[in-house]
Amino acid sequence: MDNSPFLLVKNLTKNYQMGAKTFTVLNNLTISFASSGFVLISGKSGSGKSTLLNLIAGIIKPSSGDIFFEGDAISLMSEKRISAFRNRCIGYIFQQYNLFDKQSVLFNIILPLLIDGVGIPKAYCRGRALLHSYNMDVFADQIIGNLSGGEKQRVAVLRALANNPKIVLADEPTGALDQKNALATMEMLSQIAQGRLVIVVSHDSLLAEKFATRKITLKDGDVIS
Ligand code: ADP
Ligand code: MG
Repeated sequence: MDNSPFLLVKNLTKNYQMGAKTFTVLNNLTISFASSGFVLISGKSGSGKSTLLNLIAGIIKPSSGDIFFEGDAISLMSEKRISAFRNRCIGYIFQQYNLFDKQSVLFNIILPLLIDGVGIPKAYCRGRALLHSYNMDVFADQIIGNLSGGEKQRVAVLRALANNPKIVLADEPTGALDQKNALATMEMLSQIAQGRLVIVVSHDSLLAEKFATRKITLKDGDVIS
């Protein structure tokens, strides 16, 4: 009955006002996403990749156009619903990890669950299960600040998975990693993408291309391939 795409970016335009001038970052962009797969978004620095992810996450609002998640327009959702959508449906991974350095691995992973009101015992249980399924049990009680960059990013990936989101957004997830750890992170994302939509922004497209099931290139606010 419901034939709407899983995720639809429709006629999306984002302008930024710089004094009297208006810059168009995304210009009438339309992209349809299926519910699983590893979608690579590439494009030069400044081409609007991070802006697109922030729009999909409902963190910023479009100037015009809309984003539809399972047929629902994000622009028509109340702030409360957008916030619930972000907490429950989106997992976000950043280049700089954005973890709490002084806290444990387990605490960092379950924080989104605690914020979402999940009880502590259940949250810990889920956190440990996640660590276990990626062979990372030994890290549970380690403090983030003592981990290597590659380990931190793998923790950040698990944190993004904590609430079992339908969409994982990764903004330059390997930007701060060496080749070996970049590869491990991409492999992990590729594994995750078998069961859900993973959108990865990267200008290290050589590595990401090996894993991508689809590649979208942005230029001048539009899709060029
Ligand atoms: P990318 O991630 O592809 O490097 P971004 O989406 O971060 O590109 O930025 C695209 C363009 O929009 C850049 O020129 C950037 O300077 C501009 N931009 C991003 N955020 C803002 C903002 N909050 N205010 C004004 N300009 C912005
Ligand atoms: Mg960016």
